[in-house]
Amino acid sequence: MTRSTEPPPFAGQGEPTGPSCSSEREEERHQLVERYIRREGIDDPRVLRAMRCVPRHRFVPKALSTVAYEDRPLPIGFGQTISQPFIVAAMSAAAKPERTDRCLEIGTGSGYQAAVLAELCQVTYSIEYLPEVAQVGEANLRGAGYGPDRVKLRVGDGYQGWTEAAPFQVILVTAAPQTVPRPLLDQLAVGGRLVIPVGSQSVTQDLELWLRKPDVGKEPVYSHQDLMGVRFVPMRGRSEAE
Ligand code: SAH
Repeated sequence: MTRSTEPPPFAGQGEPTGPSCSSEREEERHQLVERYIRREGIDDPRVLRAMRCVPRHRFVPKALSTVAYEDRPLPIGFGQTISQPFIVAAMSAAAKPERTDRCLEIGTGSGYQAAVLAELCQVTYSIEYLPEVAQVGEANLRGAGYGPDRVKLRVGDGYQGWTEAAPFQVILVTAAPQTVPRPLLDQLAVGGRLVIPVGSQSVTQDLELWLRKPDVGKEPVYSHQDLMGVRFVPMRGRSEAE
């Protein structure tokens, strides 16, 4: 799919910066995007803009604020982590979100990936399993200006998806199940994209991209491919019983 109608990837020269685009520490974000994201092959201008836009330092614990723009995962408490910026960018780019899309994230965590999706989608839904973590994610998102009109949050088992808000053009999963949850495939719109790490914690998981094709009769049809090896925390809840 071509993105030839998209403007060039330089903030201020191309796609206008959104109302929530933060200027705090923007030079550090610019460096991060150039060194670790663009140079590593991510060239979707909308994703690069979103990565330059979202103030990652507001999504990490205060004590780690100084290292917020290094390309690595960081602990956010309760045994969970905020993903490495390159992985957030790569997953976002693989999902090809459009401005009019309804997007779902499983595993709110710090709220950072949800904020990046909010810059790319019309509306973003995000589900977090651990109530304590959900509180942190919500505080981070709201504090950074992502209100409930742009990011809708729920505490629960993301295995089941968010039935009332389905179908979604994009679903990003940031905790690894053993196998792809059936409800998430069902909640993908025709033409939709699901990006999900699959596999156990003890080995590298496969980051998979699933596409929903037009139904044949009443049967949904999907294609999928492996993107790269990744390491995410395991998906809790129903997934653990599989
Ligand atoms: N997307 C996050 C990083 C996620 S870390 C960010 O940008 O910071 C993975 C998160 O998934 C953890 O917070 C973990 O508690 C959550 N999680 C694990 N199993 C889950 C499930 N079944 N449903 C929803 N969230 C889950």
